[in-house]
Amino acid sequence: MMPIKSNLCPACNSQLWRHRSSCPVLKRILLQKDFKPKIKQELFGSTPPSVLVGEWNYPKVNVGLLLPQEQGNTEIYDAPKEWFNKRYNIEDVFRLRLNLFNAKKSFLTTNALNPDKYLQEMQIVAASTASADAEVVFEKRPFFALHFDPHNAPFGPSGLAKKIEITGDVKIDRKIEYVISDVDLKAEQAIKNLYREGYDVYNITKMLSVGLLGAKIQRKLVPTRWAITAVDSIIIKSLLNEVKQYQEIDQYMLFETNYMGNYFEIILMPKKWMFEVIEIAVPGADWMLGRKKPIIARDYEFYEGRKDYASNVAGGYYAAEIAVLEFLANIKRQAGVIVLREIRPEYYAPVGVWKIRECLRDAFKQKPIIFNGLDEIIKRIDERFLIKSNFWKEKSVLLNFIKRQKTIDGFIK
Ligand SMILES: [Zn+2]
Repeated sequence: MMPIKSNLCPACNSQLWRHRSSCPVLKRILLQKDFKPKIKQELFGSTPPSVLVGEWNYPKVNVGLLLPQEQGNTEIYDAPKEWFNKRYNIEDVFRLRLNLFNAKKSFLTTNALNPDKYLQEMQIVAASTASADAEVVFEKRPFFALHFDPHNAPFGPSGLAKKIEITGDVKIDRKIEYVISDVDLKAEQAIKNLYREGYDVYNITKMLSVGLLGAKIQRKLVPTRWAITAVDSIIIKSLLNEVKQYQEIDQYMLFETNYMGNYFEIILMPKKWMFEVIEIAVPGADWMLGRKKPIIARDYEFYEGRKDYASNVAGGYYAAEIAVLEFLANIKRQAGVIVLREIRPEYYAPVGVWKIRECLRDAFKQKPIIFNGLDEIIKRIDERFLIKSNFWKEKSVLLNFIKRQKTIDGFIK
């Protein structure tokens, strides 16, 4: 995420990313004429499938069905993996996603247990793995306000709906049905089982957010933004238990990648598990508000893992960590890992944390560059990054720890 805390848009200071009309980031997006969809009060479309649970007014929350004015296979509207594979740029994501109408109904989080027919429809959609035809009638003309934030992918016009009806077939895999119908299975175990069955975090997040997972009495609606991190961190915990049983890698490795103006350098060190994400925002983007110095945010963990939420880097921390642990589990090794992310001004509007997860997953499919030690790696990074290491090196808790370790070792010997 952009290295700014809380729910405020850094460019216009609006709460929960409901940008003011004067917001420079919003303005820049709306300058693109073909971005704004035709607003309609009645809609026949197919949901990709996609649902969104808002966090506003929690524990009374809006559950929205997202759908474009288009019938058939609309899966691409909610397919981060595909967007990455096609190397969508920021405009591509907005152009696509702003066609998604958000038809909302308000529920108490506990309604997940005894859903009315509307919530039931949304739950069925969340469990589906294929697009489903739907009909929506809004109470009033839906309102186009761009709620782009660093966690979720953006979407278009939204409004309260008086009718939401799934008119077409829904495809629910038997494995998913099995987990959902198990009312004794804890949410944590349900998430692990689905992940092990090959479902990605995107599917699982939808199911968790509409209250389909977990022991029956605990099932609740969970705002999507929280559900993303909840699913990531449960899978991380499970992967971490596995990875810690493996030996350390035996050389220094560096993976490099970039996407949408986000430049990543991923350092793997022959050490026991420890992990740090350092985000370096390069001055120049509107949301830097004219600041001339880079903004640096970081979170880290040592061998024991994190106990509290990584509030500086937030969702991006977990999205990066899951990709790193998937790689280590795959090669059956553990390592100390530092992920550096340089955010350049080209990244002018947030599209969601999926870009970090997918970009890093892809980076690990490439061959690493091998080094003898950290000094060489940092030299290499200094050749690649706009912001030099003297700005961020001192802020790295892991690098400082390793330096201190070395001194102590040297002293004992
Ligand atoms: Zn704004």
